[in-house]
Amino acid sequence: MKRRKLIIVGNGIAGAATAWAVARRGLTDVLLLDGATQPGSHSTGRNAAILRTAIPDAALHRLARESAAFYRAPSTDFCPTPLLAANGLFLTATNGADANALADWISNPGFASGAERHNFAAVRAHHPYFRATEGDAWWLPNEGGLDVHALQQSYLQGAAKMGVEIRARCQVQHLLRDSGRILGVATGAGPILAEQVALATGGWAGFLPEELQLPLSFTVCRRHLVVTAADSVIPPHAPVVWNVGQDEFYFRPESGGLLLSGCDHVAVPPAQGEILDRDILPTVAEKALRWLPGLADARFANAWAGMRTFSQDNRFVIGPDPRIEGLQWVAGLGGHGITCSYAVGELAAEWILNHQSNHASAPALHPQRLLQDSQQLVRC
Ligand SMILES: Cc1cc2nc3c(=O)[nH]c(=O)nc-3n(C[C@H](O)[C@H](O)[C@H](O)COP(=O)(O)OP(=O)(O)OC[C@H]3O[C@@H](n4cnc5c(N)ncnc54)[C@H](O)[C@@H]3O)c2cc1C
Repeated sequence: MKRRKLIIVGNGIAGAATAWAVARRGLTDVLLLDGATQPGSHSTGRNAAILRTAIPDAALHRLARESAAFYRAPSTDFCPTPLLAANGLFLTATNGADANALADWISNPGFASGAERHNFAAVRAHHPYFRATEGDAWWLPNEGGLDVHALQQSYLQGAAKMGVEIRARCQVQHLLRDSGRILGVATGAGPILAEQVALATGGWAGFLPEELQLPLSFTVCRRHLVVTAADSVIPPHAPVVWNVGQDEFYFRPESGGLLLSGCDHVAVPPAQGEILDRDILPTVAEKALRWLPGLADARFANAWAGMRTFSQDNRFVIGPDPRIEGLQWVAGLGGHGITCSYAVGELAAEWILNHQSNHASAPALHPQRLLQDSQQLVRC
């Protein structure tokens, strides 16, 4: 049976960016598989589409910054339309402790760059419904909304043009192994052999390796988003506002209304990660009315839930599994997978092609760091 160079499981933003990055580096005979019918059926199609590079973690901020540079000026070959609507982003904090913590990390060049200090009057100037008065606001003028659909399609179409074969409705049932190495994957349509298999399986990241007794622990957290009905008072190009700390809440214009999140964070099994919990809606409404009292008469036009998937230390997991040859991870992208996707794909491609990476974030994201238990390090 033919042996592929690489199978990537999962064509969300992680798998799509990885496929494009390996193909761009000349790797041929790559197969990108997904169990879903359409790309973007899971987290990649259910997020808030915000580019926020300010992240209080140097390893992730670096990836976000590199990715933002790419989204700001993609080549027309990659995507003919703009990927980023740089309407700006305010990071805000209300109570003293949160405001001090935000001021500390946002002024740290390892975590954020180019933030300007403002107050809530600046936010009110953009958002007529915003009424909060007390608090700090940090302005990031070059951030804002990403066109996630265009970004994912550009990775996929670019990869396909360079020869990557893309198969939908192809669920991987098991990983195939022969003692110390991965042999490929088993699907409903039979086995497919490969030299390497990359797992970009989002909320299901731990499942396939677990069956091979190669556990890596991930927590799936459900978060809801709500969109209010169109309202001519809401400026369509107003900035994102993201309040951090105890009272986390964010909003941005969407389809004439506002997209809101009360930033709920509930651990669930992946099977429940996309089930809308209507009990959350009053909490979102309560937060929205505190921040945006002008929304008092607004209807919710749409609401949905999605999964944010976290490794044990909340950092991405990118690189080879040290326990078995040929298994690569591109997982645990938490709440920053869209923002960081370009650099995630680049880093994953380096590991897949060169088996090493000099990227400054590589050690912090390598799966090795999560394998504290020496038993797990024994090569099988
Ligand atoms: C409410 C919400 C808001 C968010 N907002 C933002 C934001 O504003 N900015 C940002 O940067 N990030 C945001 N995120 C995070 C972002 O959406 C994720 O980090 C990112 O989409 C993860 O991409 P992924 O490719 O890892 O996962 P997914 O998009 O879920 O893709 C995984 C794919 O793997 C496939 N798969 C799984 N198992 C198998 C199998 N056995 N066989 C075949 N296929 C399989 C699935 O079908 C799926 O298509 C948000 C997330 C949520 C939920």
